[in-house]
Amino acid sequence: MPEKVSVHKFGGTSLGSAERIVNAAQLLKDAAAQGPVVAVASAMSGVTDRLLAAAVQAEKGHTGAASKVASELQNKHFEAAAEVSRLVGKTVLFDDSILTELETALSGVSLLRERTPRVTDLISSFGERLSAPLVAATLNAMGCPARAMDARNFLVTDDKHGGAQCDRKKSDPKIRRALQPLVAKGLLPVVTGFIGRNSSGETTTLGRSGSDTTAALLGAAMGATEVVIWTDVDGVLSADPRIVPDAHLLTRLSYREAAEMTYFGAKVLHFPAVLPAIAESIPLIIKNSFRPQIQGTTISTEGEPGEGIRAITSVSGLSLISLDGKGMAGIPGIAARVFSAIARKGISVIMFSQASSEQNIALVIPESDQRKTIEALDQEFRFEKLMGMIEGVKARAPLSVVAAVGDGMRGTRGVAAKVFAAVAHADVNVEVIAQGSSECNISFGIDAKDCAAAVKALHATVMK
Ligand code: ADP
Ligand code: ASP
Ligand code: MG
Repeated sequence: MPEKVSVHKFGGTSLGSAERIVNAAQLLKDAAAQGPVVAVASAMSGVTDRLLAAAVQAEKGHTGAASKVASELQNKHFEAAAEVSRLVGKTVLFDDSILTELETALSGVSLLRERTPRVTDLISSFGERLSAPLVAATLNAMGCPARAMDARNFLVTDDKHGGAQCDRKKSDPKIRRALQPLVAKGLLPVVTGFIGRNSSGETTTLGRSGSDTTAALLGAAMGATEVVIWTDVDGVLSADPRIVPDAHLLTRLSYREAAEMTYFGAKVLHFPAVLPAIAESIPLIIKNSFRPQIQGTTISTEGEPGEGIRAITSVSGLSLISLDGKGMAGIPGIAARVFSAIARKGISVIMFSQASSEQNIALVIPESDQRKTIEALDQEFRFEKLMGMIEGVKARAPLSVVAAVGDGMRGTRGVAAKVFAAVAHADVNVEVIAQGSSECNISFGIDAKDCAAAVKALHATVMK
């Protein structure tokens, strides 16, 4: 029976410079001394943003955008390779040949002045395709035999460019076939995070921050003992440290708590990463690559016993869509029609609430989908509007959703009262409320300008 692997993923800041790359390679080498390891690399920090910005410039017809970003990335990675060579005392070569393909893709965008989701995915794939070989070369130079692997050769996804989902049935055997022989030979595979390929062979991405999900998918396919996500904070904190600087470390979280927190904005982990981990009961461990001695957060089935709220999270960039009308109570299947009209446009609903009087339906969607949502609902309910049964579809933006999360909230009395008293005390008006039936989350929508104040007030008053 082959030894079980552990998967280690390094985020952008953990690979942000030559020093950080050497640090990551050392952590991998230490882990490999304990047992077989598979690594997942994100793009060096800032690279994905830079690629996406170049695609936008190219779409505007800037013909120079292609060569400019290609030479910037060439310099960045060459300089990092040169500095890594100096740090480890051995030459680390960097192969820049794929940059020609990047230039071609960007030139095509500027020529056609068209930036499709498909070409956007291809362009944004280069960050990981440049970083993974650099990490592998660093490991080899440090005496830890490694090989860079392009995930597109074994991670099969659907066609949803910009947020593709992995087809685990097709991918799992391919992942095992690609990685197990390397591991068996004592090689450490360094896999590109974030990217995959659909069944037509086109490059897809799993969504921003998707390298976490790549790591969880590889771990699930290979029956890993753990998936370690190395990042730039000590683990999952009780709130976003940029909003609440004294947020504390949560050393244990249940999958459910992690799913609720990441769904409602805890950027430290990509929400879809939780799903393969739950499916195969693989612990996700979030650790700080700058301070590896700190224990970090373990996300597993157990969580931590106790009562009350454990974390406050928030998502911004949203819009509240409401459908009002006295005649709505008489319209059959209204919620179902709202959902299917929106689903047909590929828009995902973040939160939904229906007043018990049945005279109002409110949904929260990404602000970028506001126009499409209003059009879809206007179209769906045009008859009812004409008949005066529905007053119309209104939008309110920018909206933020704040969530209070904790398994121990279930069955604890007065949690909601405490939450809304704290929000009212901070003089913040609540626009819409939802409480999942799991009762481990209370979420509510507020004006985006009040978001930080609400998160701070809640964190200060309602944590257990
Ligand atoms: P990486 O590049 O390692 O993937 P990310 O920037 O995607 O890192 O995620 C880490 C960041 O997530 C942290 O620097 C922190 O600012 C942010 N963050 C937001 N909410 C939380 C939270 N509840 N706990 C920890 N970090 C959080
Ligand atoms: N490089 C991608 C991003 O910036 C994926 C990741 O870092 O996880 O979103
Ligand atoms: Mg991330």
